[in-house]
Amino acid sequence: MKAFASDRYTLPLPPTHTFPMAKYAMLRQRVIEDQSVAAQDLLEPPAATDSELRLVHHADYLERVVCGTLTEREVRELGLPWSEALVERSRRSVGGTIQAARWALKDGLAVNLAGGTHHAAAGKGAGYCVFNDVAVAIRVLQAEGVIARALVIDCDVHLGDGTAQIFANDPSVFTFSIHGAKNYPLRKPESDLDIPLDDGTSDDEYLEALKYGLAAALNRSGADIAFYLAGADPYADDRLGRLALSMAGLAARDRLVFQACLDQRLPVAVSMAGGYARQIADTVAIQAETVKLASLYAGRWPQGNGAGPWNSLDSDSLPSKGGSL
Ligand SMILES: [Zn+2]
Repeated sequence: MKAFASDRYTLPLPPTHTFPMAKYAMLRQRVIEDQSVAAQDLLEPPAATDSELRLVHHADYLERVVCGTLTEREVRELGLPWSEALVERSRRSVGGTIQAARWALKDGLAVNLAGGTHHAAAGKGAGYCVFNDVAVAIRVLQAEGVIARALVIDCDVHLGDGTAQIFANDPSVFTFSIHGAKNYPLRKPESDLDIPLDDGTSDDEYLEALKYGLAAALNRSGADIAFYLAGADPYADDRLGRLALSMAGLAARDRLVFQACLDQRLPVAVSMAGGYARQIADTVAIQAETVKLASLYAGRWPQGNGAGPWNSLDSDSLPSKGGSL
């Protein structure tokens, strides 16, 4: 299984900053130690280009990001100080998801060890998210005619508000989010399917809700590819999470997602998304387990032709978005 790492492109953050930048390098080391990814399959993605980013993001926003002319208010909402390193890092992170999506179509599953920046909307960044990697990857593959329809399975504990807005009126992309009802962001635009959960939701309740959501989303999306945001932040000891999943519960979550997609021969591109555990090692352990499981499921994928039935572009025969359950 191919995995994409961009941790060499890091951000100069003050030591007191909430964002756990160190998790990315730790995760890369860990997936090699675990032998979830072979050294030759761990690749550095190219930076997403302006023309790729413009498939989703407004030209004026992109320019303000690239030139460092974001307003103070925009920087505050983003939650990260501007630097040239931030721009390069954000481009690489999007590049990782584009590459993961390409390899998922070939191998069934592939992973970006970063990405999942789902709070970024077309014209603005927010909540540590500069560009929306999943949205850009979908638009790139659609523009190339490689896919027609996509499904976003967003299991980060926060609602993917940027993703929901970007695809709000687009029947070719089905957005599914399972998240904390009382969590950031305050204003919650609607995904195609939202499952808001109460504070303190634990494993069994979460997994039941996810099972229902997955079945409905897979049934309604008619997708050629799924993007899985495997946020580690529903974890009980996450500082920003408010839910109460155990590590075993999060692994069960990953298995449910991978198995449901495998059952339908739906390729999956995985992004890591959030993770703010009190102990950074916990976030890394959760995400390393996601990668390990992804590689196990990749091994179960029917291999060989690189163009399975899931690659069909015959979208007329697919169920339309928004149909009844
Ligand atoms: Zn999150």
